[in-house]
Amino acid sequence: MSEEATVQGMETHKRMSYLHWDDYFMATSLLSAQRSKDPVTQVGACIVDSQNRIVAIGYNGFPRNCSDDEFPWTKAKKDTKDFDPLKDKKMYVVHAEANAILNSNGATLTGTRLYTTLFPCNECAKLIIQSGISDILYLSDKYAEKPTYRASRRMLDAVGVGHRRHVPKQKQIIINFDDILEEDPNSSLNLNDLHL
Ligand SMILES: [Zn+2]
Repeated sequence: MSEEATVQGMETHKRMSYLHWDDYFMATSLLSAQRSKDPVTQVGACIVDSQNRIVAIGYNGFPRNCSDDEFPWTKAKKDTKDFDPLKDKKMYVVHAEANAILNSNGATLTGTRLYTTLFPCNECAKLIIQSGISDILYLSDKYAEKPTYRASRRMLDAVGVGHRRHVPKQKQIIINFDDILEEDPNSSLNLNDLHL
């Protein structure tokens, strides 16, 4: 391609298909959820300040150094003869929202927004309120009728923490590592051979 053609072909306007902030932060929450070892429920959360800076991220998992292979990922069934509450994951799992708050590394959370893939439970609602988070954006509210979630909503409404379902502007975001690697002529090289 000639230099002139290159100049003519240059894009002079901003790209219009860029990711909307809310989609970006919800996608960040979803990506974080991919870290979860829970075989049934993967939840991710992302806390963002008023200047659209990510303050913290979290996903549901056991407390640090509680082995993912030793603690149970099962739900203990109360009606069964050998019911053992200590074999229920609920006893041990830290929820995504709680982990995000704990991961904030001392940053003030007053006035921040929490993006979560699932509407927060009552225990997380307590932490959200106490930490000063002012708004919640969620993707799914599939347990809305359960007492845990009704209690959560009751507390949030009582203190004026906003909550609304995020309706994504785009249906999907595809991350394909190959797209980047295919346009990189050095991707198949061993970096040690480059003599930098
Ligand atoms: Zn929770």
